[in-house]
Amino acid sequence: MASDPGTFDLTQLDAVRVYSLPMRTRFRGVTVRQGVLLNGPEGWGEFCPFEDYSDADCVPWLDAALESCFLGWPTPVRETVPVNCTVPAVDPRRAHEFVANSGCHTAKVKVAEPGDPASADAERVEAVRQALGSSGAIRVDANAAWDVDTAVHRIRELDRAAGGLEYVEQPCPSVAELASVRRRVDVRVAADESIRRAEDPLRVAVAEAADVAVIKAAPLGGVRRSLEVAEACGLPCVVSSAVESSVGLAAQLALAGALPELPFACGLGTVALLDGDVVTDPLLPVDGQLPVPTHPPCPAPALVAAATPVAETQHRWLERLYRVRLASTT
Ligand SMILES: [Mg+2]
Repeated sequence: MASDPGTFDLTQLDAVRVYSLPMRTRFRGVTVRQGVLLNGPEGWGEFCPFEDYSDADCVPWLDAALESCFLGWPTPVRETVPVNCTVPAVDPRRAHEFVANSGCHTAKVKVAEPGDPASADAERVEAVRQALGSSGAIRVDANAAWDVDTAVHRIRELDRAAGGLEYVEQPCPSVAELASVRRRVDVRVAADESIRRAEDPLRVAVAEAADVAVIKAAPLGGVRRSLEVAEACGLPCVVSSAVESSVGLAAQLALAGALPELPFACGLGTVALLDGDVVTDPLLPVDGQLPVPTHPPCPAPALVAAATPVAETQHRWLERLYRVRLASTT
């Protein structure tokens, strides 16, 4: 069988279902997650690029979904993956609640939300430390919001508020800025957008600019392609979700399960951010761990029906799916 997802024919799919799931809390400006569930001979895949992504940006997302449908995943080297819970830009009381209810020993805290004062970030991080206790690990994600000087100042401040940060994720937009920040702070720097939004993720030189690489199966074009990126960047990797349903999240877990080394908890405790799911047994962490699936889970017809959006939304997503397919073959 061909091994390039770009060669698979969408007409060979057994089912194509559009879903729409509300978010419990606004996350990265998003209040609803939508996408398409696809079923092929190897099982189900999920195509759920964010609304503002161009068709060209969405090609690897479709490749990842088709890998799950037509190829399946490489054999894992571990059975479970430690995961962090993700704390959106909420007030300290809710941040505490998120962490306390998660059962996770590592928390990733969103910071630098537009319009939020710096004090809100520090208070959120303090509340997370209280909820985790001294043995837990706290990482923050700034989603490229800061310039170098602001990053240096804010990282030191948040490192104090957290009683020690595990790492700071994408403090600034460019690889050069990450390198400057890294020289000036004692906290590890993780590269996320620098890798997955790079023109060629296999060639981005992050080794001098970061201590950790954040990789995601969907934007990198699937589990196999992400394993190649992990090897090429030569850094310890953390697998992070794109806030998919449990169907798409399973592919991310397959990636985390197949990485040769996994020194940090992964950002895969995100199903809790969704109000609902399409499978009866959602991939929610138990005691901070998620199982590595060998096959994609099967959506439950009743849950898919309940998550089916209005006809106009369905048409929009199906059109997007076929446009992206066209973009990937031309
Ligand atoms: Mg990130």
